[in-house]
Amino acid sequence: MESGVVFDIKEFAVHDGPGIRTTVFLKGCPLRCTWCHNPEGISPLPEPMRTATGERTVGETFTAEELADRLNSQADILRANEGGVTFSGGEPLMQAAFVSAVIDRLTDVHVLLDTSGHASERDFRAVVSKVDLVHFDLKLMDAGQHQRFTGQPNDLVLTNLSVLETLGIPYVVRVPLVPGVTDTIENMCAIAERLDGSPGLIRVELLPYNRAAGGKYEASQRPFEPGFDERIAVRRDTRPFDALGVPVRVAS
Ligand code: SF4
Repeated sequence: MESGVVFDIKEFAVHDGPGIRTTVFLKGCPLRCTWCHNPEGISPLPEPMRTATGERTVGETFTAEELADRLNSQADILRANEGGVTFSGGEPLMQAAFVSAVIDRLTDVHVLLDTSGHASERDFRAVVSKVDLVHFDLKLMDAGQHQRFTGQPNDLVLTNLSVLETLGIPYVVRVPLVPGVTDTIENMCAIAERLDGSPGLIRVELLPYNRAAGGKYEASQRPFEPGFDERIAVRRDTRPFDALGVPVRVAS
């Protein structure tokens, strides 16, 4: 029986896809984005987190059956509210076999995969082929900048974006706006150029940097070293995407 580690389950989520959703945050991520606002999701293992109210363990192990049973118990209300289940993280594809086994046990519920795209092509294909919608993050088109700010090159991400374009699954590309890093005109134009004519792309969402990101680092005993000036306002310029012919939204 597949089992996996989850660091949060958020019910009645309204910002993680269409309708009202239950979002499962899977532990573990191969990237190290310097702006990450879920540092407790990076390690694949349960870990202690210290807050003003005391210490707690972040990360709970579920079997695929246990998690699917919990999600299925909410399926009626999720369906009634045009929602479903979202798998997020961390990077859910780090636990691809587990996510796949949970999805196999879900009964008639809309499934969304929220991914960085940094995974093997095999895992990417295996999970994406079972979902209804993908939220795919595109951060930096320049390989060197991607390596510098996420700790990994962007070749897997770009390969999996090309795979996604062939699978017939609708997807939203989400771009985190990080001041002076991803929000530059060069990067936005490079992303827009890459997405020009992408089959299956239904929307682009720009996600402004969350200045509260640093707060969780102390609690999870990690240094917060963003490598950019957090005080600079992000550019919220949607014009590079004007020619794509799909809606472009800036999240509030
Ligand atoms: S991909 Fe997401 S979870 Fe992983 S390090 Fe980057 S921001 Fe954090």
